[in-house]
Amino acid sequence: MSRLLELENVTAAYGAVKALFGVSLALDEGQVVALMGRNGMGKTTTIRCISRLLLHSGGRLSFAGRDLKGVSAPKVAQLGVGLVPEGRRCFAPLTVAENLVVAARPGPWDIERVQALFPRLKERMRQTSATLSGGEQQMLAIGRALMTNPRLLILDEATEGLAPVVRQEIWAGVRALKAEGLSILLVDKSLKEIVSVADSAVIIERGETVWQGGIDALTPELTDRYLGV
Ligand code: ATP
Repeated sequence: MSRLLELENVTAAYGAVKALFGVSLALDEGQVVALMGRNGMGKTTTIRCISRLLLHSGGRLSFAGRDLKGVSAPKVAQLGVGLVPEGRRCFAPLTVAENLVVAARPGPWDIERVQALFPRLKERMRQTSATLSGGEQQMLAIGRALMTNPRLLILDEATEGLAPVVRQEIWAGVRALKAEGLSILLVDKSLKEIVSVADSAVIIERGETVWQGGIDALTPELTDRYLGV
């Protein structure tokens, strides 16, 4: 397996406020890695650095063998980082179909495959995304990222605030994507689902990686200590 994403001691700040003090993580092609940690520990900030929405101040970030220093957000998307940001932002005035089409880049993913993954979207292609339920918007946000034909899909709290039945649909989608061999970096609060889908986990505390290992090595002692569950 080849290394797709690697962060070594990444540091970052919002202006004068430091947020990351040394995040390291590794993700191999085809792997699902869970980025874990309590609220405010730096998970979203780490994702923002990977997608270049925030420029890191130190350490090293590489994607597909390429150092991301100096690489812009549009360029990293072109290289194959598909981000589904927290808060599932879609282009509200556009229809579901338009949201998908504007994201399209050549590759195996197209509207038909997105509809097969999330059948709920199929019935709503002509609706504007603003009129979708929260769960449908999340499915659309994932579908839009898939339309870019990413090499790495990043899901930041994709099931946050959704009804249990809709969450299950999202997790079923994630499992289907994993089965197809897509590489995924995910942040989520459901430990149970993470354990069932991830190959490995990274735990960050106060902006620093404190543990990375195989999902089977994620003991109750670790989750108690770092996740407070
Ligand atoms: P959550 O699960 O609550 O989203 P998180 O682990 O994703 O938490 P981050 O959102 O990455 O955490 O926040 C890490 C730190 O950076 C926090 O101390 C937070 O207050 C700070 N931070 C995040 N965004 C900003 C910002 N735009 N400006 C200043 N500080 C920020």
